[in-house]
Parts: sequence; C-alpha cells; structure tokens
Amino acid sequence: MISVYQAREIILKNILPLKKSELIKIESALGRVCALEVRSKENIPPFDNSAMDGFAIKASDSHEASRGNPKIFKVIEDVAAGYTAKKELKSGEAIRIMTGAPLPKGADSVVMVEDTELVHSPQSTVHRKKEFVKIFKEIKKGENVRYSGEDVEKGEVVVKKGLILKSGYIGMLASLGFSKVKVFRRPRVAILATGDELVQIKEGLKPGKIRNSNSYSLYSQALKAGALPILLGIARDNRKDLESKIREGLSADILIVSGGVSVGDYDFVKDVLKDLGTDMKFWRVAMKPGKPLAFGMMKSVPVFGLPGNPVSSMIAFEQFARPAVLKLSGARDLFRFRLPAIFTEDFEKKKGLRYFLRVILANKGGQLYASLTGPQGSGILKSMVLANGIAELPEDVEFIRKGKTVEVTYLE
Ligand code: AMP
Ligand code: MG
Repeated sequence: MISVYQAREIILKNILPLKKSELIKIESALGRVCALEVRSKENIPPFDNSAMDGFAIKASDSHEASRGNPKIFKVIEDVAAGYTAKKELKSGEAIRIMTGAPLPKGADSVVMVEDTELVHSPQSTVHRKKEFVKIFKEIKKGENVRYSGEDVEKGEVVVKKGLILKSGYIGMLASLGFSKVKVFRRPRVAILATGDELVQIKEGLKPGKIRNSNSYSLYSQALKAGALPILLGIARDNRKDLESKIREGLSADILIVSGGVSVGDYDFVKDVLKDLGTDMKFWRVAMKPGKPLAFGMMKSVPVFGLPGNPVSSMIAFEQFARPAVLKLSGARDLFRFRLPAIFTEDFEKKKGLRYFLRVILANKGGQLYASLTGPQGSGILKSMVLANGIAELPEDVEFIRKGKTVEVTYLE
C-alpha cells in the first residue's frame, strides 16, 4: 500500500496540462487559469495625482506652518478628478484639488482639506472671487501625491501564466486596458456512480436502495476546482454496464468512477478498467477515509476509482482529483494552504494511515481551534456538511492529545 504523498506524486507525474486556451471576457474570467503572461503597456496610475481632497502647493511654502502659525496661500484654480489644471502654480499659491485629479504643474504636494481653512477676501465680489487658504501644517514634498507608476510600472508582469484569476486580477486587467484575457480550457471531468443499490434523486426508494449522492458532491467539487463536470449517471454492478459507461467517460479529460473499487464480490471497476486497457498505477492508499482508491491511465486519460462511501469519495477527490484537475488546467498552485490549529479533543488512530478528519475551525481570541464535526465514519456525510476544515493526522501518529497542534486545510 502506498502513502498519500506517493500516490499524489504518481498521479501528478502522469498528468500533463491540456494547454489549449481561449480568449474570454474578463467578466467571465473569475476562477479561470491565465494562459498568457500579461504585461502592462503603461504606468498605473498614468499620471501623478492627488491622494486626498485638499490643496496642491509647493511643500517648501508650508515650512513651519502650524495651527498657531498658519501660512496663507492664494487659491488660483480648482481642479476636479478627470480634469487638468490650466495654470502653473508658483510659490505662495495653492490649487484646490480633488482626489484623483492630476497634480498641477509647479506643485509637489497636497495638504489635506482637514489641515486648511478657506478665507474669503473682503474685496471679493460675486464676479471676481478672490480666495485664500490658511494652511495649518508643514508638509513634506510628495505628501499625499500618488506618483505615476507607483502601482504598476510600464513593462511589469502583472498576471502570470498559470495563476487562477481572482477579483484583484480582474480589476487590474481592466485598469490596464484589457477587456479580454486568454485562459486555459477547462478540463472535462466525467463522473460515474456505480452500484446496484443506487437510485436517482427523484426515483422512489425501495428496500435496500439509496440515492446516488456521490455524483453530485463530486460534480460540485469538480466545478469548484475549475473543471467542466459531466454526469454519466449510474452504472450497475456488472461488467457489461460498467464497460459501456466507462467507455463513454473516456472521451472526457478525466474519468472519475465512484464505488466498486474495494474487495467486495461486486467490485468490478478495477477489472473492467484493466480489461479496457487502463494502465493501473495503484489501487490502495494508506489513508482514512479513502483507502480503496484506484488510479490508472487509459492512454492519456487519467482514471480515478474513488471509494463509494460518500465521505471517502469527497476526501479522495480533494486529495487527488483536485490537484489532478488543477494540473490539467495549467494552474501553478495545486494544493490548498494548511494552517496550524489546536485540536480540542483526545483522538486515537491507527498507525500507518494518514487521517483526514472533518473539523470545525473556530477563531477564539486570535487562536485557531479545530473540533471534530462529530462521528467520523466514512458514511457520515453530515461531517462534510458541518466541516469547514480537514485536519490531517500523519501516518506515524497513534494518538493525539487535546491541546496539540494539528495541520488543517481550510475549505472555503
Ligand atoms: P462500494 O465502494 O461500492 O463498496 O460502496 C461503499 C459504500 O458507499 C456502500 O455503502 C455504497 O452503498 C455507498 N455508495 C456507493 N456509491 C454511492 C453513491 N454514488 N452515492 C451514495 N452512496 C454510495
Ligand atoms: Mg458498490
């Protein structure tokens, strides 16, 4: 029996990115994998501008200004965001400026409005308004100025190939003038449930039957991993049905079969896969839940035989199929972050197996705690409903005491 890490290595070694890409609108690009390095063709911001509403001045004019010793400036112009000042500012002058407006020529800094007070000249008339402003603070050159290129410089790589596009990237692409982005094609993941006991969601339950739930949890997991899932329905526990449905699945980029991979009398999945020419790489992994887990390559199509138990199939997807989908998608990062958390109970485990416990992560006073969701049986699907984290207990551990630190993957 191989370890979780060995299994992952074998899977990822056998999978190559699909490489095909498509050009899509940035509005549809959230979660997609960027297929092309994106370089900025200009500076962001494109011009020096004000970070505050206030008055643009020459900083040296504010020397020793304070509440008790205000400096008076003549206000020569107003400039709003979207416009440029017409006049060039000279010593002793100020230009009223709004956030985002270009810094006027001659000015080198901005005093924020809160540190100023407007003074209306007694000679001012409706037609010729002469305004002055008192400045109560000495400011430094460059204060409250956002310089051109301080966010992104022309020529800088802002989105790297293989990155999963988050909202920040999408905003950045718009800001750089791209309305479309090249992304990798989504891998098609075919999902097949197996079992004589399975009925479809809306079919009536007869004695001995249960509803097929795995297809749907796997469907949503595949979707979340950025794939295009395809439901192949339910195959019965006989070679003929399995063979025809598995063949159908081989036109996808990955085939996922759930159930029928353990050692029961009706577990034909492995045999059928082998008969169809699949190069089986392994069929048992030292983990709990999820031990019966087969992986092979049917020519270039990776095939996963996941355990039938609802929790096992979800955990196995998360640990093995998800990174496989991401690698096919051309993504750089294949694994989720793990965080240390304090385990809140005593727990005994079997040595030699890696455990994936469903936990509820809670932040108490800045410290992360992980508590079991309840019974951890591989058929307790509620554990996946309640969990927001999966705690991993390594192979060599036999017992974990309450208060010890465990590594937890946060499931968003
Ligand atoms: P198997 O791996 O086929 O021996 O199945 C193990 C357990 O998982 C059995 O109790 C099955 O009834 C259950 N099971 C298998 N496939 C599914 C499915 N698609 N949805 C829900 N439960 C399943
Ligand atoms: Mg079965």
